[in-house]
Amino acid sequence: MRYHSLNLNAAEVPFREAVIQGIAPDKGLYFPVEIPRLPDSFWKNLREKPINEIALELMRPFVGDSIPDPDLGRILEETLSFEFPLVELSEGVYSLELYHGPTLAFKDVGSRFMARCLGHFSKDSPAEITVLVATSGDTGGAVADGFLGVPGVEVVILYPEGKVSDIQERQLTTLGQNIRALRVSGSFDDCQRMVKRAFLDNDLKAARQLTSANSINVARWIPQMLYYAMAWRQLGPDSKPPVFAVPSGNFGNICAGMLAHRMGMPCRQFVAATNVNDTVPRFMESGQYAPEKAVPTISNAMDVADPSNFVRIRKLFGYRFPDLDAVMTSHAYTDGQTRDAMRHLHETYGYIADPHGAVGYLGLSDYLLQDPGGPGIFLETAHPIKFRPEVERTLGLELDLPERLRGLLERDKTALPITSYDDLRRFLMQPPGS
Ligand SMILES: *Cc1c(COP(=O)(O)O)cnc(C)c1O
Repeated sequence: MRYHSLNLNAAEVPFREAVIQGIAPDKGLYFPVEIPRLPDSFWKNLREKPINEIALELMRPFVGDSIPDPDLGRILEETLSFEFPLVELSEGVYSLELYHGPTLAFKDVGSRFMARCLGHFSKDSPAEITVLVATSGDTGGAVADGFLGVPGVEVVILYPEGKVSDIQERQLTTLGQNIRALRVSGSFDDCQRMVKRAFLDNDLKAARQLTSANSINVARWIPQMLYYAMAWRQLGPDSKPPVFAVPSGNFGNICAGMLAHRMGMPCRQFVAATNVNDTVPRFMESGQYAPEKAVPTISNAMDVADPSNFVRIRKLFGYRFPDLDAVMTSHAYTDGQTRDAMRHLHETYGYIADPHGAVGYLGLSDYLLQDPGGPGIFLETAHPIKFRPEVERTLGLELDLPERLRGLLERDKTALPITSYDDLRRFLMQPPGS
């Protein structure tokens, strides 16, 4: 498989180059030149195959000959070494729990896959690779964990000071080794802007081999389609096509779901649920793409005003608004509505959702009111413990601390404060590890 830049002004590259470069030289996002459609029999018989085989069949066309099958198989097996349960709350309404990975966030899959791909590529690359990543909360921890101890790779994480939860901050500032955290006085969009600027900085690029682990990287973005395939597998061969409601920030996850759909996976509708950072719902209403300043919310991993993957969604539909409109619905919800949904889920079903999952649930409920029939699945993207103060306050209870987080709360945070792009540049102009 080759990838081309969505800005149409750069050479086509194989998977390997697209992953190492992160973003194309013309600043465009990489996109697969073609999207293969798997036969209906593949989608019908998913239950008969082990997860690892399904994952290999879905990912192989996108990786091409950049990684030999036995290695790709091993990478996928390590990537998917935890559960993705589909929990039925009431008849036909499901939560797809994506938070059972090492950092309790759905970003574990993309991060682990990308880390192992880069580890594979760096085996025969002389230069140390620097992974530069901006996080609104969960990416940082998942990337840090995924890359921890991977030889030949240094990870530099930018996060907005005071805008991530305590547990999230600890997950990215306490690991040490090849992981460096930079605490930015600003918003996530400021962090993302600095990272984008660094990728265009020729002096920096001469000093370091930089790549991104944000969902702009195809190795982070594409494997997320596996969640949808696994959900469909759990529904079983006799199920009607489901509605997927996806709490969305940078729109990488939902775009990966649409990729699975394009490969033949049955799906009735995608619902993009956002918090009040509603650039996409407004776009679906008016046809005008007009990002505003990001506003902080209780679902902070979605506090994104200018979602970087939305252009991929538009490309997927040939930039034809009516085609997109037929497949995707989008709604925005306030923090008040989110808290009400968390209370409703707890009181009615005894289910504890985190604020992001609750936004997904709201999107699903509204959609099913208008168009009932067939299963509805909302993606629960983070473990409630990651948003502990908010969840405990809203539900008036105390959450148990999962075993794997116990050690974390005792470790000290280490982060370098930065305020401007120049600070970041100065940091990156030093050799890695200094
Ligand atoms: C990143 C994240 C999202 C948003 O996912 P996108 O792919 O950026 O749309 C939703 N929920 C949680 C918990 C996240 O960490």
